[in-house]
Amino acid sequence: MAELQGPNLTDKVVIVTGGARGLGAAAAKQIVDGGGKVVISDLLDEGAETAAALGENARFHKHDVTSEEQWKTVVDFAIAEFGRVDGLVNNAGVSTGGMFDAETLEHFEFVLKVNLTGVWLGMRAVIAHMKENGGGSIVNISSAAGLMGLAMTGSYGASKWAVRGMSKVAAVELGTSRIRVNTVHPGMIHTQMTAAHAQSGEGNYPNTPMGRVGEPSEIGSAVAYLLSDAASYVTGAELAVDGGWTTGPTVKYVMGG
Ligand code: NAD
Repeated sequence: MAELQGPNLTDKVVIVTGGARGLGAAAAKQIVDGGGKVVISDLLDEGAETAAALGENARFHKHDVTSEEQWKTVVDFAIAEFGRVDGLVNNAGVSTGGMFDAETLEHFEFVLKVNLTGVWLGMRAVIAHMKENGGGSIVNISSAAGLMGLAMTGSYGASKWAVRGMSKVAAVELGTSRIRVNTVHPGMIHTQMTAAHAQSGEGNYPNTPMGRVGEPSEIGSAVAYLLSDAASYVTGAELAVDGGWTTGPTVKYVMGG
């Protein structure tokens, strides 16, 4: 599909976790394309190449989102490199599924630690700075699995529903501090996370009203919008970017028919 044109992010400094690849890398690209500056953080060293490809307005910092100490280092790094932090995209996540009776406690706790505790730590790491700085925008990446009950997502779905709820609480608490907090709920998007499930091309994804799998740039542009001043009165919102997947089943139903 054609390259999407994102919103204006001139001079905004944004941290994107899990930005080495996939949806995080796509969001990082749109931030830079929109005139912003980005610190990509990730466990994976390939984040350095992702940042290098974006040029002088991108940096990489190795980071495990489950570590409170490392969160402080990442925020300090962003401030040292670019002067402040205006935005945070809590994107890093893990997805491994199984039916309830096949999952283990260890697995459940691992998924919650990355997908939920990591987001909680991230918000706490930037709030004081954003308050001092006069505001900010936090975008937490939930999932379609945080809007509906999706089989095989007991632990993943729990983490994504929790991110959605926690974000609304943060939006309420932080509104008068001019810190906006919103969630993005991707449907099935082509990344390494979904390589086993997402098929390619038009018309072959019948569970979704639009009939196709999404592209990372289609999530990146939604994230960029929420980071931008174009969304200046948007907080506590949940933005499904899912081709209509969570809107309802694609089964045709004719009233009275
Ligand atoms: P991905 O696996 O391609 O990328 C996830 C990134 O997060 C990886 O680079 C990984 O190294 C990083 N990461 C994992 N654990 C980390 C940790 N502890 N600390 C720092 N980084 C860590 O996946 P993706 O598809 O790009 O997913 C990005 C986000 O979008 C995730 O939160 C995911 O749950 C969500 N999501 C994706 C889809 C989809 O269809 N791809 C759908 C709904 C939601």
